[in-house]
Amino acid sequence: MSDKKKTSAITDAEWEIMRVVWTKEETTSKEVTEILNEKTEWKSTTVKTLLSRLVEKEMLGTKRNGNKFTYFPLVEERRSIEVLSEDLLRKICSKKVGKVLESIITNSTLSFSDLDQLESLLQEKRKTAVEVVPCNCIPGQCQCHHVH
Ligand SMILES: [Zn+2]
Repeated sequence: MSDKKKTSAITDAEWEIMRVVWTKEETTSKEVTEILNEKTEWKSTTVKTLLSRLVEKEMLGTKRNGNKFTYFPLVEERRSIEVLSEDLLRKICSKKVGKVLESIITNSTLSFSDLDQLESLLQEKRKTAVEVVPCNCIPGQCQCHHVH
């Protein structure tokens, strides 16, 4: 619950940093800047600011090694990805979730083993499927309430 809150509050820029730290397990601002240089134009000061924000948000821990700081993750990547998908689903009407999942699958390249997993998951989901998914929105945020 507590890391749920932290993770959902991180920005896209902070996410880029987290991916490097998850990959490296322990890293420095210099290394993060060099790696992200491939896709961003961030100066080392920008990266340092983002790193210290992530420390404040308790996503990263930091240690001092002589005169340089190293950073390491305090939240698992796997858990953060789960939070990301929970956040996405929370933003849309529950009636539209099926369509969203459809478009995620349509737009993804999947392996045979992914498909096997999905197929058995769908078989399993049949056991608890409902006739009509109830809407979870407040009136005025989706069309469901106008249905007669
Ligand atoms: Zn709705």
